[in-house]
Amino acid sequence: MPETATRTVHSATPATASDAAVVARDAAVRVGGRTIWQGVNLAIPRGSFTAILGPNGAGKSTLLKAVLGLQALAAGEIAALGRPPGNGNRRVGYLPQRRSFDASLRIRGVDIVRLGLDGSRWGVPLPRLGRFSTRHEREAQRRVAELIELVDSTAYATRPIGQLSGGEQQRLLIAQALARQPELLLLDEPLESLDITNQGAIAALIQAICRDQHVTVLMVAHDVNPIVSYLDQVIYIARGSVVTGAVEQVITTETLSRLYATRIEVLRASDGRLVVVGEPSGAFDAGGHGAHATR
Ligand code: ADP
Ligand code: MG
Repeated sequence: MPETATRTVHSATPATASDAAVVARDAAVRVGGRTIWQGVNLAIPRGSFTAILGPNGAGKSTLLKAVLGLQALAAGEIAALGRPPGNGNRRVGYLPQRRSFDASLRIRGVDIVRLGLDGSRWGVPLPRLGRFSTRHEREAQRRVAELIELVDSTAYATRPIGQLSGGEQQRLLIAQALARQPELLLLDEPLESLDITNQGAIAALIQAICRDQHVTVLMVAHDVNPIVSYLDQVIYIARGSVVTGAVEQVITTETLSRLYATRIEVLRASDGRLVVVGEPSGAFDAGGHGAHATR
């Protein structure tokens, strides 16, 4: 994207909230000499459920990596749970993009969740005194069972994960990510390849986790349609800029036209769904015909 294409679209959320789980001030990322996004100001309230939307390649995964401290900023700053990214990572859970299991994989759901408990977030086993004691083992099994119940996966948690449906796998991966009781959970397209009903079901589950466990969730999503009723707000990234706010503030003719710097029309269908017309191609994979049904 040429430098001239990037500009600031002012956030609907002030970046001054002191009780925010994630704060960005005038943040910018450059990768390979190219600005991915810039002028990003955010304040994500603790315990809220936020979807990150935008076309492929807009920088959604890059935003999660910047919050994690895996992607350095070229300008500005980001704080996650009140600290610079990368510090206190134990309080941040992360589910990277595109994780699926080979159908022949024999590892069970319970083992996947247990890995979240025993390994560090980056997959390296954490040395711990008394780790192999009977008491530790019993406590670990109790915690794993509790997590599996939380994501409503008890019925299939002992089956090989490769044989489970995409939605069942995602529930178990979310349980794995929750194993260390993160205060902030970053999910990169966990609804990818799920049918609309399952997308809604997983979004409902995540909303319940936000409410009941007081976890802040940032989730990259492809289609806002099936999940809109569960979201507190959205972050929309396009053309190097970011706009944040409630769905009804962001997914509007005015805001999206400003963000894309071209005429975008947001219509309300008779069933109440929002339909976005004129989004540049590639804005959403699903459909991709310039008309995009939201809700
Ligand atoms: P999204 O998740 O919105 O689809 P990404 O955050 O993955 O987009 O990528 C944003 C942009 O940065 C894309 O244009 C992508 O090609 C580019 N990009 C991502 N990672 C790298 C990298 N390691 N090297 C070069 N370019 C990259
Ligand atoms: Mg991505």
